[in-house]
Amino acid sequence: MAKLITEEQLAAERGFIIKLKEENMRYAAQNGRPRLALTETYGCQQNENDTERIRGMLFEAGFEFTDDAKIADVVIYNTCAVRENAEQKVFGRLGILKHIKEERRDMIIAVCGCMVQQEHITEKIKSVHEHVDLVFGTHALYKMPELLYKAMHQKKTVVDIEPSDGAIAEDIPILRDDSKKAWVSVMYGCNNFCSYCIVPYVRGRERSRTPEAVLNEVKELVKNGCTEIALLGQNVNSYGKDLDIDIDFADLMRMVNEIEGVERIRFMTSHPKDLSDKLIQTIAECDKVCKQLHLPFQAGSDNILKQMNRKYTKAEYLEKIEKAKKAIPNLSLSTDVIVGFPTETNEDFEETLDVLRQVEFDNIFSFIYSRREGTPAAKLDFVLSEEEIHSNFNRLLEVQNEISKRKNEEYVGRIERVLVDGVSKNDESTLSGRCDSSKIVNFKGDKSLIGKYIDVKITEAHTWSLNGETV
Ligand code: SF4
Repeated sequence: MAKLITEEQLAAERGFIIKLKEENMRYAAQNGRPRLALTETYGCQQNENDTERIRGMLFEAGFEFTDDAKIADVVIYNTCAVRENAEQKVFGRLGILKHIKEERRDMIIAVCGCMVQQEHITEKIKSVHEHVDLVFGTHALYKMPELLYKAMHQKKTVVDIEPSDGAIAEDIPILRDDSKKAWVSVMYGCNNFCSYCIVPYVRGRERSRTPEAVLNEVKELVKNGCTEIALLGQNVNSYGKDLDIDIDFADLMRMVNEIEGVERIRFMTSHPKDLSDKLIQTIAECDKVCKQLHLPFQAGSDNILKQMNRKYTKAEYLEKIEKAKKAIPNLSLSTDVIVGFPTETNEDFEETLDVLRQVEFDNIFSFIYSRREGTPAAKLDFVLSEEEIHSNFNRLLEVQNEISKRKNEEYVGRIERVLVDGVSKNDESTLSGRCDSSKIVNFKGDKSLIGKYIDVKITEAHTWSLNGETV
């Protein structure tokens, strides 16, 4: 059973929220404006969910929000460690902030999240970016009010990146980005140690929230008008293994399915080795669970899967996909793929293309391998050159784009239930939303439909989205 952050520790943090609020009220009275905070998130949905908590704590502490770093009093970058380019982006941002801070000495700059949970990164920030006031890792998220208060009152950089196997902090204030859809974390951390991945090192071991905590959060969300729940964890299929009651993720999903007011349930991410027949059956049987499965296969070659420490073979993966397709009609499938893993040959890569062709995913999230210091894969040598890896990556996209377009064409003529998110990015007069399988659907309609479920007849298919008209 995961360790819980105690009520005393949480009360101490609430005390710092009150102190910050009092200071912020004095500031607003003296300056005729509230203190402004800017948050920026990199990486996965877990990070998005963490940022919602950071914003919740800031909001309770009396901060208002801005997107403009030039006028922000507090800037917090919630970082990702999965790929090098996200790290480079953060360092680039810190470089820009240095100039802004020269003009505005009181500005507080904080970097948090997975990237800084790695000691070598924090050392680099301390030595190269001395203008950063606060650095805190994933395990210190709940302590943000105290750390921010200290950073506002002392001259030297405040750092809290204590390693930990992880504990769970319940009841942290949260400010959600969307009132109709919400991420609900069911567990944190990962025990899988895929050889390329930094997550187990920066987010600690797997630990599950109790079903009561998850269900109470969902009920509270529904009370506030939220209807779409996405259950979140690095490997949701391990849910419950560390609890002292007999429960797994399929059981939890059924319980969420029973909650009145929930309209749609999504979940991510599943590890193929742990995808059980019971879970497949549960997806098929629960009326509110979207018929959609994100099952990362990463590579098609058994040799590379072994080097990645994924603990399944290509044949086993394909067998699970077949089972899922058979049990769940109209199942929409997506996956993650890594191209150019060390030791990968062109023959290995052909196996990856073969999986794409056999499964016919609706869409994929594909990445060129990014070396992560401290992981076993970082010690392996490359067989392919950078040019060959890029050329394979482009081939992968070509193959998948053709499949995605074809899969989308199957939707033309169907009537899909769409939760309307807002206006389309490209055209103010067009609304945009997602259907059950999470595909983007664009259609003409009145803005009053935003936040509602409506039926849309699909009239046209593109590679990445569908067009339709209201029924
Ligand atoms: S399952 Fe593997 S890739 Fe996913 S978070 Fe865990 S270690 Fe990383």
